[in-house]
Amino acid sequence: MKDIGIIGGGPAGVIAGSYLVKAGFKVTIYEKNERVISTPCGEGISHTAILKLRHDTGFDSAPYFSSSIDGLKNIFPGNYYTFTYEYGYVLEREKWIDGIRRHFEKNGGQVIFNSEIKDVSKLNESVIIGADGPISKVRQKIGGKVDMCTAMQYKMKLDWENHDLLEFYWDLDISDLYGWNFPKKDYFNVGVIGNLKKLDNFCKKYKISGEILKKEGYTIPFNGSKIHEDKYFLVGDSAGMANAFSKGGLAAIVYASDILTYCLKNGFSSSYEQKIRSHPAFSKSYSLAMKTILSLNQKELEIIGKLTHDKDLLNLPTTTKLKALKYPSLLPNLLKIIRAFKGGMKYAW
Ligand SMILES: Cc1cc2nc3c(=O)[nH]c(=O)nc-3n(C[C@H](O)[C@H](O)[C@H](O)COP(=O)(O)OP(=O)(O)OC[C@H]3O[C@@H](n4cnc5c(N)ncnc54)[C@H](O)[C@@H]3O)c2cc1C
Repeated sequence: MKDIGIIGGGPAGVIAGSYLVKAGFKVTIYEKNERVISTPCGEGISHTAILKLRHDTGFDSAPYFSSSIDGLKNIFPGNYYTFTYEYGYVLEREKWIDGIRRHFEKNGGQVIFNSEIKDVSKLNESVIIGADGPISKVRQKIGGKVDMCTAMQYKMKLDWENHDLLEFYWDLDISDLYGWNFPKKDYFNVGVIGNLKKLDNFCKKYKISGEILKKEGYTIPFNGSKIHEDKYFLVGDSAGMANAFSKGGLAAIVYASDILTYCLKNGFSSSYEQKIRSHPAFSKSYSLAMKTILSLNQKELEIIGKLTHDKDLLNLPTTTKLKALKYPSLLPNLLKIIRAFKGGMKYAW
């Protein structure tokens, strides 16, 4: 079996590592920090992704759930809202990553902390995996490109009653794409795709106030153009694998790690990129849905909210469908968004 070096001990590094040791590879993770440290994240993940991780690697995430989720509430301008249902969780992410790291080590993997890799070509392993996040050295080496967006988040203690839905706010006043409010056991993750000014506008407009425990921000790479060359493979944010519509990156890592392990184990290394591109988790429809949302104005978002108000977006009643026919120019956009939600409930978080 080949020896494998993974650069980065974030979610992509420890999840890919866990798949690979299970398949019998000798794996070393090089992490620049002195311990596992989570990058900023809303920490939402679907039950489907958690089940797949457990089934494939044997890792049980249950001790790391901060809260359980029944689905999504999508809020539109005018305070109209709609639902999509799928079980999921908000994680204690740093502890979760460290739990997967321990699982990886128990199965024979090695993690070397305090080891920042500055020149990837100096690593001796016969396969090198870049799991080194948005500013990836391995991506620089193979020449891949990504699109990037900024996301800002407060960890907040709110007076709000705790809810068991992930709230998404599709409102151009407050974000470049959407804002979110995810409930944790002791506080909420409140964030926007956009800058700090947008985050403050979001909190002001939707009267989200309370003690700010932490302010954090980071970039999210998506639409990665190249993920493999010779002995170098990318997974996670280094690959620009986050879902273009939801910007969720965790489920994508689980699916990509499975595909990468299959390719390396069966001698199909050169098909990694093609297998990723043809998997539904990485469908182009998400990029299309993002562009569709970005092409809508505030009034159109409000009409979509009003049309689907208080309904299950994926099971709209016939009366709503008939009402939608009154807006022929908006109808194709609504259908693209619904399609992205349909796939997204399984693959985008
Ligand atoms: C505000 C925000 C909210 C988000 N919310 C969600 C969400 O709710 N659900 C979801 O699914 N996704 C979410 N995402 C996306 C998700 O967080 C990322 O896709 C995910 O963290 C990517 O993991 P990664 O391991 O690829 O990269 P990272 O988390 O960036 O980890 C990279 C690791 O590599 C290490 N490293 C980097 N360079 C080197 C080097 N040269 N040598 C050694 N080590 C190195 C770093 O120290 C780090 O540990 C969110 C992102 C943001 C910014």
